[in-house]
Amino acid sequence: MSRIAYVNGQYVPHAMAGVHIEDRGYQFADGVYEVCEVRGGHLVDMRRHLDRLERSLSELRIAMPMSRAALEIVLRQVARRNLVREGIVYIQVTRGVARRDHFFPSPQVPPAIVVTARSASRAAADALARNGIAVISQPECRWARVDIKTVGLLPNVLAKQAAREAGAREVWFVDSRGLVTEGGSSNAWIVTQDGTLVTRPADFGILRGITRTIVLEEAAALGLRVEERPFALNEAYEAAEAFNTAATALVMPVVRIDDTIVGAGKPGPVAMRLRQRFHDFTEFSS
Ligand code: PMP
Repeated sequence: MSRIAYVNGQYVPHAMAGVHIEDRGYQFADGVYEVCEVRGGHLVDMRRHLDRLERSLSELRIAMPMSRAALEIVLRQVARRNLVREGIVYIQVTRGVARRDHFFPSPQVPPAIVVTARSASRAAADALARNGIAVISQPECRWARVDIKTVGLLPNVLAKQAAREAGAREVWFVDSRGLVTEGGSSNAWIVTQDGTLVTRPADFGILRGITRTIVLEEAAALGLRVEERPFALNEAYEAAEAFNTAATALVMPVVRIDDTIVGAGKPGPVAMRLRQRFHDFTEFSS
């Protein structure tokens, strides 16, 4: 089966799909994206992902490329045409195609949109979660508006590659005060020795992860103690548990941070319980 992409109004073979060389996403990283999990052929939490897409676009003063109803149809079509049962749908919207110039193009220039989908095995993520992952810390070096999900991910790319070269799967960014902000493509959490879940407040310093929001809701439903506050890297070294959240990895236990083994060195009970809850209660949209 050949893969299909949606590019500016057309469904095209993935191998032939391209955007113009003067697309502002390509020239300036002037665009935003979303990644939505597909499970059992359904888009998971599409409503929340599209809410966040609209917010990212409005923060950058880029128009929605089409109505929300039409966009939902395109997302489902791309998943369906690629026969994705388990995997992801990727949406990217940029400020459009115009002669290279830092100033915004004229309002007549429409935003550009690309949607792709691909299968990803759930078994692989589950296998990783059974053992937990290692993370390394890196100095926070991103811009001050990482709450906007822009395609400008160069610091994340470099930091995640450094993690891989150090034998880890993810990076945790640490700000100038020694406080963990978030992962390279995930939100960061710890469970303190007294069983309190801690994650940084979603201000401008982190992306407000959809998975993070769901875990907060589930933790409340389970009656867990939660504190939304910044935590230091040193506090994380001494935590009972640590984990990351992201739509593609759900709740991923962290068993090593830099050279420090976290807790018992294996996925902790709180992380595993939340991972299970997450499987059971995620909002589906067909
Ligand atoms: N932070 C960053 C920097 C990310 O790239 C991601 C993944 N999109 C997240 C957090 C987690 O967000 P979500 O739970 O919505 O996937």
